[in-house]
Amino acid sequence: AKGAGKDRFALYYDGLQHTAKRQLALESALAQALERNEYSLHYQPICQLVDGKPYLAGVEALLRWSDQGRLVPPQEFIPVLEASSGIVRVGEWVLQEACRQVRDWQLAGQAQMHCAVNLSIRQLQEHDFADRLMLILDETGLAPGSLVLEITETLLMQDSMLVRNNLQRIAGLGVRLALDDFGTGYCSLGYLKRFPLHILKVDRSFISGTPENAESLVISRAIIGLGQSLGLSVVAEGVEEQAQLDFLTAEHCPFVQGYWFSRPIPAAQLQEMFSESGAF
Ligand code: C2E
Ligand code: CA
Ligand code: CA
Ligand code: CA
Repeated sequence: AKGAGKDRFALYYDGLQHTAKRQLALESALAQALERNEYSLHYQPICQLVDGKPYLAGVEALLRWSDQGRLVPPQEFIPVLEASSGIVRVGEWVLQEACRQVRDWQLAGQAQMHCAVNLSIRQLQEHDFADRLMLILDETGLAPGSLVLEITETLLMQDSMLVRNNLQRIAGLGVRLALDDFGTGYCSLGYLKRFPLHILKVDRSFISGTPENAESLVISRAIIGLGQSLGLSVVAEGVEEQAQLDFLTAEHCPFVQGYWFSRPIPAAQLQEMFSESGAF
């Protein structure tokens, strides 16, 4: 038994070394990825429900990294970028690219389309974030009202003056702020009033249980009601089934997003969908 324990420890230790090496390799690959043009964006439609019918209202830009031809899942590389502050430069590239693309689509006929971009806390800790954002809007010609920046509850909980000032300045520009993954963090409802928020995104962990699971249903219903009584817009994330869409329609949820409508896809593919539907 003693021997087995020792072996297990050795295995575990090797595992750690292996993980540390992989982490280092990942970090150095990511450090070069921007220059090597290995990042791209996928876009997922966000639909507005009008009389129960979904209409394309905007897109969420989602970062992709192609490492030697293999698409690496965001959960694997975004935390690494966030740990090394590489996310600041990459995040700026995401903003630039997404604003440019959506402005192109607007000019091509999708005049009302909005663009949602995810922000990391690191970006909001930069003193000049709002200035850089203003520059990007200026350069791409995207109206501030067409941009939504998505932040998470954990980000708000940091509650630093710097972050708060940045959020105020962003809202002052006319850019809207969405609280992403709502209901999964430890955010007190007081935060909803303290920060200049415009949109709540109901986390997909709640939506996925609806309508069969009573708890999911009650929580989703409560969040939709809460958002609306606070004058916020609401987006339900992770809609995968007709039954979920029917439930959200009955609850008068204004916006929906999920695989039921489309997975996140490259810009060219989304553009094909517009042309097929005759909207381009
Ligand atoms: P998120 O912001 O909550 O993005 C939504 C995630 O849910 C996306 O995963 C999307 O593919 C997935 N999703 C959408 N609809 C469905 C559905 O119906 N069912 C299921 N099961 N999943 C659905 P993705 O693209 O893997 O992104 C994961 C996370 O990575 C994002 O979660 C976001 O937190 C982060 N992320 C992605 N792009 C960026 C970025 O540019 N900057 C930052 N800071 N974070 C990003
Ligand atoms: Ca998001
Ligand atoms: Ca989310
Ligand atoms: Ca279900």
